[in-house]
Amino acid sequence: MAFDSQNLDAFHWLADMIETVEVGLVVLDLEFRVQAWNGFMENHSGITATQIRGQQIFNAFPDIPKAWLTRKVDAVTTLNTRAFTSWEQRPYLFKFRNSRPITGTEEFMYQNLTISPLTNSSGKVDKVCLLIYDVTEFASSKRALERANEQLAKLSMTDRLTGLLNRGTWENLVDAEFERYGRYGQTTTLVMFDIDHFKAVNDTYGHLAGDDVIRHTAQVTRDSIRQSDSAGRYGGEEFGIILPETDAENAHILCERIRETIAQSTVNTTAGDIRYTISMGIAQLTGEPENYMQWMQEADKALYRAKEGGRNKVVIYA
Ligand code: GH3
Ligand code: MG
Ligand code: MG
Repeated sequence: MAFDSQNLDAFHWLADMIETVEVGLVVLDLEFRVQAWNGFMENHSGITATQIRGQQIFNAFPDIPKAWLTRKVDAVTTLNTRAFTSWEQRPYLFKFRNSRPITGTEEFMYQNLTISPLTNSSGKVDKVCLLIYDVTEFASSKRALERANEQLAKLSMTDRLTGLLNRGTWENLVDAEFERYGRYGQTTTLVMFDIDHFKAVNDTYGHLAGDDVIRHTAQVTRDSIRQSDSAGRYGGEEFGIILPETDAENAHILCERIRETIAQSTVNTTAGDIRYTISMGIAQLTGEPENYMQWMQEADKALYRAKEGGRNKVVIYA
């Protein structure tokens, strides 16, 4: 085909379009040497087409995963078909700084990538074209949504007043720990505890101050347990702790620490300074209970004995 002036015109505006389009366009030969590099790529990389032409892409961008891209390009040239990768599989091919002020939360440009085979005049694939789409805005809002959903899931697992696990979530964990014992027989202990004379706290200082006391109990508990322990708010002023890999004796040491800390604390509320105590029941799991509810009843019986014995006490179920 000879270039007449009409063809030449078409070539010019075509080249102009490719140069200015808001998509990255890179042509590589099968040795991965850069053959074409449009304005989008120049702007975001700071490397001009003249500088990079003829260079191996892996030398110019050492961050590019060589084995991965080689495999992709091999598939494209062998099968003579396009390949697509989304930002969710690989956030970016070219590590460009995110240039959009609106989506300033993301440090790098998220990219979708298409690799197309390019054939020469004899019909043989001898180059590939990479199209790089900036999808930062989309990725950023999707990630924000995912984070919000995670938070929501967390919120529905926890108790609003204290941030401890709520009753449902915590009971599920007790059940799971009970099942685990059935399979592995590991040492594990349950604690149930309850604030002493809490009705009097509410009656004297009001409900809001009562809530402060409940939050205080939760905070002392959180500060006292290990990462692997699970504390939950079982009822209004009733709490539970699962202590995996812990026997009754060690649970007793922990409970005494919590009980003692609370007995020595003063909760400063707008209604006044409040001193209070708690009673605790401990049940190390044995072969006795037939289900997790019976295990909880054992801890509850021990708690009842602590109340009967004068409160501000820790009792081990026997
Ligand atoms: P005991 O020493 O035998 O445990 O006596 P108690 O007064 O603590 O008795 P009980 O455990 O039955 O009292 C529970 C009280 O806790 C009754 C209820 O009004 C109050 N309560 C339950 N949930 C909340 C809450 O979320 N906030 C506040 N402020 N009070 C609550
Ligand atoms: Mg109670
Ligand atoms: Mg109580």
